[in-house]
Amino acid sequence: MKPESDTISKILENYNLCEYCTGRIVSKFVRKPTSKLLGKKYIKKFGKLSDNKCYICKNIFDDIDFMLSNIYEKLYNLDFKTFNLGLILKNSFLERDDLIKSKFKIKGIENIKFALSREMSKKISRRTKSKRIMNDPELFIQANFKDESSTIRTKPIFVYGRYNKNIRKLPQKHMSCKSCHGIGCHNCNFKGLENIESIEGKISNLLTKKFEGNQVKINWIGGEDQSSLVLGNGRPFFAKILNPKKRNRILRKSSNLEGISLSELKKILVQPKGSIPFKSKVSIIVDTEKPILLTYLKKLDILENAKIHDPSKDKKSLNKQIYQIRYKTLGKTSFRLDLFADGGIHIKSFIQSSDVTPNVSGLLQNRCNCRKIDFKNIIV
Ligand SMILES: [Zn+2]
Ligand SMILES: [Zn+2]
Repeated sequence: MKPESDTISKILENYNLCEYCTGRIVSKFVRKPTSKLLGKKYIKKFGKLSDNKCYICKNIFDDIDFMLSNIYEKLYNLDFKTFNLGLILKNSFLERDDLIKSKFKIKGIENIKFALSREMSKKISRRTKSKRIMNDPELFIQANFKDESSTIRTKPIFVYGRYNKNIRKLPQKHMSCKSCHGIGCHNCNFKGLENIESIEGKISNLLTKKFEGNQVKINWIGGEDQSSLVLGNGRPFFAKILNPKKRNRILRKSSNLEGISLSELKKILVQPKGSIPFKSKVSIIVDTEKPILLTYLKKLDILENAKIHDPSKDKKSLNKQIYQIRYKTLGKTSFRLDLFADGGIHIKSFIQSSDVTPNVSGLLQNRCNCRKIDFKNIIV
């Protein structure tokens, strides 16, 4: 007998192994790829007939179909072309696998977990006409053999778009419930959110329905007061749709939701990291405490190209700048101010008395109040 046959017969004499585990263990000796068929052949040759379960895997391969039917149920109606599979297996499986490998000095074969996951993936691929990939799959499946459960998670979808806000009194962000601060209570129907309309709520609704996702997270390019309008090309935003069921749906370029309209909508591959610099054209109606004359307003000329210092913000926003300033008196105690400036400058603090320097109220020595702030355009 060849020395490798000698070892194989020794293994199979001492341990009861299933066809899968036998195929895997002997593959290296006989220089053939591991397969159930290979295992069958060697069990016939050297194995003992036995009703005992496989020493390594306790016949776990027989449970695959049960686990898979549990998984297939969850994949019903899901769009995906690629997936990856993770397994949770009791450590004792790997320990018994290692014990045999070290006892018979077997190296360079896949372990029981790999073998099991490869076998399952093969079946999932065939059934769902999809491909297993390790890197960034559209679907991630976790099969837990400890408690015979499975969970699935899909890759988020990223959407870019812009919104125009055509009505006042609509906040940008959804607010946490005032009674429970977002934890969930009877007042908020356990949603943790105030039951009021917001731009965030409207966009989230549209995208959750479209892609059948769980939740939408929005990354805004700047923000505005609930009383401000957003005109021109609109304010850009990036949305991340978590756990979408449908990823092939067509997203129309524009969409009209009550009070806001969306444009330039498109799916993108990744969301940009960090904050994105932008500039805004803003038009502000300012009320003054004392009467204002055009000659006083000329003092504001020094604001052109001025750097804005806001002590309430971190160092990163130190370089915010005003590029252009235009003004026009409207009445005895009001004027209009048009700014072209870096995004992220707190307009109200820049005009009303505050720690922000330079400051419009300070320059005019006249207490100013913003009656209306509208965004004419936002440039990224
Ligand atoms: Zn086995
Ligand atoms: Zn609440």
